[in-house]
Amino acid sequence: MEETIDINRELMLDANAAAGLLYEIFGVEMTAAPTECANCGNEGEIGTLLAFTQGPGVILRCSTCENVVLRIVQTPDEIILDARGAVYLRLARASA
Ligand SMILES: [Zn+2]
Repeated sequence: MEETIDINRELMLDANAAAGLLYEIFGVEMTAAPTECANCGNEGEIGTLLAFTQGPGVILRCSTCENVVLRIVQTPDEIILDARGAVYLRLARASA
């Protein structure tokens, strides 16, 4: 199969590198949280996504189709979470 998307994998880190930032946003450990790619329907834990942290903000891509699932940008005043690439995020409730 021919690779159609050219991504510099040298810039890639495991999504666990973004775990601290996700914890700050959601207040719970997110690496084991299930999510579904809106592009290809691949389901997996956030910790399995491909994380890119070299650009402005953090980008988490689908490990199957490399669609951008989550994009997180931090400014001095706020954190912006773009989750349009995810069908859902499932967060365990603290009381569960
Ligand atoms: Zn996908």
